[in-house]
Amino acid sequence: MILLAGLVRSGTRNLQFTRLYRVLAIESSCDDSCLALLEKLKGKAPIIIDEMKRTLNSQATGGIVPTKAQEFHQQEIGNMILEFSGRNGLQSSPPDVICCTRGPGMVGSLAASLQIAKGLSIGWNKPLIGVHHMLGHVLISKLPESERPDSKPPQYPFLSLLCSGGHTILLLLRSISDHEIIIETSDIAVGDSIDKCARELGIEGNLLGKELEKYVNSLTPEMVDEFEKISTETRDNEFGFKLKKPLRGPHNPVIPDTLAFTFAPFLSSIQHFKTTHDLSERAKQFIAFKTQKLIFQHIIDRVNISLLKHGIKEDTIKGKKILGDGKFKGVQSLVFSGGVASNRTFRKLLQEELKLNLLSNDDVQFHFPDVRLCTDNAVMIGVAGIEILETLHKRTDLNVLPIRKWPMNELLDVDGWIDIEKSEIERLINT
Ligand code: ZN
Repeated sequence: MILLAGLVRSGTRNLQFTRLYRVLAIESSCDDSCLALLEKLKGKAPIIIDEMKRTLNSQATGGIVPTKAQEFHQQEIGNMILEFSGRNGLQSSPPDVICCTRGPGMVGSLAASLQIAKGLSIGWNKPLIGVHHMLGHVLISKLPESERPDSKPPQYPFLSLLCSGGHTILLLLRSISDHEIIIETSDIAVGDSIDKCARELGIEGNLLGKELEKYVNSLTPEMVDEFEKISTETRDNEFGFKLKKPLRGPHNPVIPDTLAFTFAPFLSSIQHFKTTHDLSERAKQFIAFKTQKLIFQHIIDRVNISLLKHGIKEDTIKGKKILGDGKFKGVQSLVFSGGVASNRTFRKLLQEELKLNLLSNDDVQFHFPDVRLCTDNAVMIGVAGIEILETLHKRTDLNVLPIRKWPMNELLDVDGWIDIEKSEIERLINT
């Protein structure tokens, strides 16, 4: 339903109406079934009207089993939509647009929502937009942050560091559809690595990364001070534990041709330690602290190298002066997103250790979306869908399939995009 939100008198003859439209968003790419209802006024940030989320409990299986996740979504999503529609009056007053995650993700999980979204699009005769999940994580930064309500949304070009259970990627975004991957992981994602390290250390719970963060945060300041002073560059410490920042050896070039993250070595170090030592509580505390911090510092280290490689300022490394190629010229914002970016220790380290002075002569703004919107949610799918609608004027054909692997820099290179008629866009979003 389109609501007339305001009446603006322009001159003496023309009356203009500012329209509000509503978006229903659905997300189920992994183990969260999520719904959101957003309201959008042209030129303003979307407003969250309602949200709903249910998460598969994978504690017993020790990780997400794709078939279990698929069953979970199939069981949950229908009744969730029924309840959500009821409490928001969607049956009598349907939303104007349906947005649903199309990929990347687990195909069975994605399909559960995509099928329902197609049905709602047919039943309500409203356009469907198949949204890229990671674009959602990046564009959630368009919403005002509750801790900084006056913050301006990031302007293109900007950098986005997406750290989650499925992805670890630094992107340069020149526009909504022009993305360049600057760094990606050569093995597993950071969130996956953190979960595996936590499990190896005997930490329990459904969200292991959060549990590890809690465990490390429970250390006393005295212990933190003590652990900070102990080096793990070699095994020559009271624990016999060795863990170094990866890709920093004498044979690694200071500025590699291709930048990459690697997270498998962190798990290997803990596994190796356990083959030769008993894991006392004190050793567990020390290793948990060092592992979490070094994982974050490895990310910062690689991002700093990219800032040096593509920035606009000179820096001296190992006695050598290096000037970047200027690819990041004009970047004034850094957006952090994904579940791992909600970790407060990580946020603090990013602010302390990133060499943002290599980017610009002016201040570079950090954008940290609200913690609850960093993990998978449907709000971000609605926000990205709105951006696709308003700037690219596209919707998605009802014949599309979910996409398991969908690189961010191929947003529009997949089948199923349909240009929306100008008159339809006018009707939806213009005054
Ligand atoms: Zn995600």
